[in-house]
Amino acid sequence: MISIKHLSKTFRNPDGSTLTVLKDVNCDIEKGEVISIIGPSGTGKSTLLRAINMLEPPTGGEIWVDGENILAKGYRLDKMRRRVGMVFQGFNLFDHMTVLRNITYAPMELLKKPEEEARAEAMELLKKVGLAQKADVYPDSLSGGQKQRVAIARALAMHPEVILFDEPTSALDPTMVGEVLSVIRGLAKDGLTMLIVTHEMRFARDVSTRIFFMNEGVIYEDGTPEQIFGHPVRSATKAFVNRIQKLVYEIDSDEFDYLQIHTGLSRFCIKYNLADKMDEAYVLIKEMLFEHLRGIRPLTFRITHAELSGETALDFMVEGRTESPLPRNEAVERLRSRVKGLVEEPTARGFRVKLLI
Ligand code: ADP
Ligand code: MG
Repeated sequence: MISIKHLSKTFRNPDGSTLTVLKDVNCDIEKGEVISIIGPSGTGKSTLLRAINMLEPPTGGEIWVDGENILAKGYRLDKMRRRVGMVFQGFNLFDHMTVLRNITYAPMELLKKPEEEARAEAMELLKKVGLAQKADVYPDSLSGGQKQRVAIARALAMHPEVILFDEPTSALDPTMVGEVLSVIRGLAKDGLTMLIVTHEMRFARDVSTRIFFMNEGVIYEDGTPEQIFGHPVRSATKAFVNRIQKLVYEIDSDEFDYLQIHTGLSRFCIKYNLADKMDEAYVLIKEMLFEHLRGIRPLTFRITHAELSGETALDFMVEGRTESPLPRNEAVERLRSRVKGLVEEPTARGFRVKLLI
């Protein structure tokens, strides 16, 4: 349905210097495929989506949509715009129009749909995304998750053959990520063709038929979710999909700044969607540092989160020890029963107590 051949994009900066963001992108996208594009930031994922719908005309290569090269002279772009819908990170709703009007606008203006019909269909779409009761309000009064669901309904109203999503959940409060992802999951079940740039690795693994790992301006590796997440071939892919986020504190006395840890922990949990683990983590950290490991200083405290497996751990590491610094008492036994796992293990330089939460 879409075929991309040797696509390239070079930006020319005002000072005359250039930046080649897409080097040589090649891919074929079949009808019904759900492709997630993952990769480090700055590798051209957004630029690729924006090139496909000509918001950012490429500098070289070909894009074939339904057998027509949309970069050919004389190709009517509005034709392509009808076929290719886009959902942005920042929603881009029309703030001066009601929710319903946001959705009926393009079908009425571009497809010349009669108002009655456009409204009836918009109501159906609003039902589909769970927002029928919001038809007559302005976007201002909606939460981020609701705005994004309206943006999805608006894209669907044009009956596109493919929808491009550019990080549809990364501007959202973590509590709202789920509602948007579940709408997208529903569309995948309906068989809509989608290209989704996302940092939500587990979502990408669950919902996609194929994954593109973009790196250095090319599709560096592509395959099924099972291949890319389970058995990546190239080392950069492996490093990316298995990356572990970390936050580390050195604690050398009892006078350490635990409010600083609290702030760091909150930011970490919000960034990686761990809001539900935050309070418990903080209670455990305080309990470990002030009770079970009291007087055991210096120690290094680390919180780690493996995005793909979803495992979160609190590590307490003491150098130069061969035995666990945890006391053998009832309080520690109670702690053991409260966490998903408590691991005591020697390391190369000392000993580690790990709480899985
Ligand atoms: P990603 O979405 O993978 O994070 P982008 O496609 O947004 O990456 O950007 C890739 C690179 O292109 C970045 O270095 C970015 O600064 C640069 N870039 C993006 N848009 C423009 C532009 N309009 N002008 C100049 N440079 C740009
Ligand atoms: Mg981007």
